[in-house]
Amino acid sequence: MGTATATERIFNFSAGPATLPESVIEQAQKDLWDIDGSGIGIMEHSHRGKVFDRVIDQAEADCRKIANVSDDYAVLFLQGGASTQFGQIPMNFLHAGKTADYPNTGEWTTKAIKDAKVFGKVNVPYDGTSCNFNRVPTDAEMAGKLTDGAAYMHYCSNNTIFGTRYQTAPKTSAPLICDTSSEMFSRPIDVNAHAMIYAGAQKNLGPSGVTLVILRKDFAGTANQNVMAMMNYGKHIEGGSRLNTPPTFGIYIMGLVFQWILAEGGLTAIEKMNAAKAKLLYDAVDEHAGFYIGHSEKPCRSHMNVTFRTPTPELDSAFLKLAAANRMDGLKGHRSTGGIRASIYNAFPHSGCEALASLMRDFAAKNG
Ligand SMILES: *Cc1c(COP(=O)(O)O)cnc(C)c1O
Repeated sequence: MGTATATERIFNFSAGPATLPESVIEQAQKDLWDIDGSGIGIMEHSHRGKVFDRVIDQAEADCRKIANVSDDYAVLFLQGGASTQFGQIPMNFLHAGKTADYPNTGEWTTKAIKDAKVFGKVNVPYDGTSCNFNRVPTDAEMAGKLTDGAAYMHYCSNNTIFGTRYQTAPKTSAPLICDTSSEMFSRPIDVNAHAMIYAGAQKNLGPSGVTLVILRKDFAGTANQNVMAMMNYGKHIEGGSRLNTPPTFGIYIMGLVFQWILAEGGLTAIEKMNAAKAKLLYDAVDEHAGFYIGHSEKPCRSHMNVTFRTPTPELDSAFLKLAAANRMDGLKGHRSTGGIRASIYNAFPHSGCEALASLMRDFAAKNG
């Protein structure tokens, strides 16, 4: 059986699905054939058997360890991607006559707002549409615009498409819900400040098809019970994420990624590595500030998605071509920002950021 070596793989700057740790992929190659010496591969095991019990229990325990998740919270592995949460949250928690606060910081929150409006009233205390979402709001500018007695506040901690992030969670007296799909476990997270945190796995945690949800049990207890079973958080909690057949392979990979995070030293160590990688790229942007135009305002710069442009769309294309010739893939910006986006999630290697920064300097010197 041939194992792909690092030299055969190229630098993958994809926004998601995205780069996974090589040790995880290597382990998965083995376990696809036979996991835990059971004589059966991970994808072929019953979701109610002993081997999968071990896999999901370990994944949950490691998740709790990584983020200090207390017993007040349930850890769920759900399906339908982060996008399903956009509807499931208001379906459960946006009760009749209540309003939910949704600062709008990008395309994903725009979608979440649209889905919430299907179920109830939405207040948007900040809307970044007019500045093309190049920053996130401060608490000061949202003060006075929040709803008294809001059902909850929903925000997106890292805006994948625009490359912005909140330094700290926004302040509110309402239960706080965070879409942290594109930066889950990339830096320490204050779980206790939130009623719920969720993330589609395919950016930073594993393959597509599984969504990690960390949900305070007493908040889950306030949910509307008049919803179909698969949309009922309480039933998922009771069923231990096995209300039906869960995405077993995705949960398994997520568990391996959690073990990798712990082996790397946990979130404080991971945050340091990510900051160093992001700095390499932002330094290259700032050194050639007349040539590269960063999309995000500096205080809001994401450490996961680095977004910038060259002076013209033609030069953007030339840059992408040169990058491809240098074994770098996935750098094309989203259509709503254009330009270039380097997604450098946890597992993306430092050497890849060095290579891109060096390419950026050469390209600016030749074309600036
Ligand atoms: C990718 C992404 C989503 C959508 O995730 P799906 O799993 O495709 O539904 C939602 N929110 C954010 C912040 C994302 O980056």
